[in-house]
Amino acid sequence: MKAGPAIREERLHDRLARFARIGATARGGVNRQALTEGDREARALLAELGRTRGFAPRQDAAANLFLRREGRDPSLPPLMLGSHLDTQPTGGRFDGALGVLAALEVLEALEDAGVETPRAVELACWTNEEGSRFAPGAMGSQAFAAGALAPEWLEARSPDGARLADELDGTLRALPGVPIARLGTPLAAYLELHIEQGPVLERENIPVGVVTGIQGTVWLEVVIEGRAAHAGTTPLAFRRDPMVAAGAILHTLHEGIMPGDDDARFTVGRIDAYPGSVNAIPERVTFSVDLRHPDAETLGELERRVRAVCRREAERAGCALTLRPLVHMPPVAFPAAMVELVEAGARRAGLASRRLVSGAFHDALYLASRAPAAMIFCPCRDGVSHNEAEDVEPRFVAAGATALLEAATGFLRSSAPAAA
Ligand SMILES: [Zn+2]
Repeated sequence: MKAGPAIREERLHDRLARFARIGATARGGVNRQALTEGDREARALLAELGRTRGFAPRQDAAANLFLRREGRDPSLPPLMLGSHLDTQPTGGRFDGALGVLAALEVLEALEDAGVETPRAVELACWTNEEGSRFAPGAMGSQAFAAGALAPEWLEARSPDGARLADELDGTLRALPGVPIARLGTPLAAYLELHIEQGPVLERENIPVGVVTGIQGTVWLEVVIEGRAAHAGTTPLAFRRDPMVAAGAILHTLHEGIMPGDDDARFTVGRIDAYPGSVNAIPERVTFSVDLRHPDAETLGELERRVRAVCRREAERAGCALTLRPLVHMPPVAFPAAMVELVEAGARRAGLASRRLVSGAFHDALYLASRAPAAMIFCPCRDGVSHNEAEDVEPRFVAAGATALLEAATGFLRSSAPAAA
């Protein structure tokens, strides 16, 4: 009997180790930020590994890199598997790289087993997912989904002074002979394996997370303006203190939002008092609000509540209030059929799974606007990510790649054109 396609754990581990050496940091992490020399080296290695197995490399104007394993009917849109190879400045070895190298492993497993698929299977390596060197993050997948790079992105400068348009150009030139296709080629579906970046799967010892969607995010900037005055000489009745309002708002919202709803996230990560003097009542307090929820309606309700509490407490303190919306990203729910496909694949492979919502953005969020998409999460040690200590147990790496392979073959079977 001919064996079906199977993940070769050792090959995948060697690959992860090899890519982790590109941009390796002294503390065991990786610094391979988007469009740097390290990123170019990693892309070149990926293209070379693909060529060796006959998977044709291709790039686009956003420097997304693809490897294609041809199918029986080249005219059908491919199944795409992907993630990213760029990292945070003090990033880990698995965030992004796991999804790209597991996708390569799936292509190789199909090749090893000599499987002819009804349509092509493509690996996608998305540019600048992290957004640490150029904003916004998930730039490559956003450009792919939109079919164009936003003109204002091209002029963006990195903290090291580089211009995005120049860095894209240099990165594309670093792969001579790899054709540049138009942005946003058609695809049948998209699957992405990624580390969870949270503690749930490890805590429950479940190897496969079936991601049902990505929660929505609202960012607000809250500015409360009162009157600066002397800390020692101004009695209570004469104060219009924005810090009093800010304190009351933070207390009310911390007590009111998360304790009543396990899916809600409320964070104030930045606060600033002006002029910031020990012995002056501040004239102005500015703080950020990061609000998240997987349900669009509830997220809207939470935002209204935040706004109402801010208005009430600013008024009570005799201060003026300005609320500026900074980010508004509605939640995305992956199609039920894709979620079930991932679940069924894990079941066939004998891997325990559970459903969960992603707390972070991913490239899959943008691909979901172009094709049915789904994500698989892999447990990571202590839920630690965006950190040089990021780690994944070998058994979970193998399980994640196997779940990706099963989901991919499941999709290829279910989407195959009926036999003539
Ligand atoms: Zn990532």
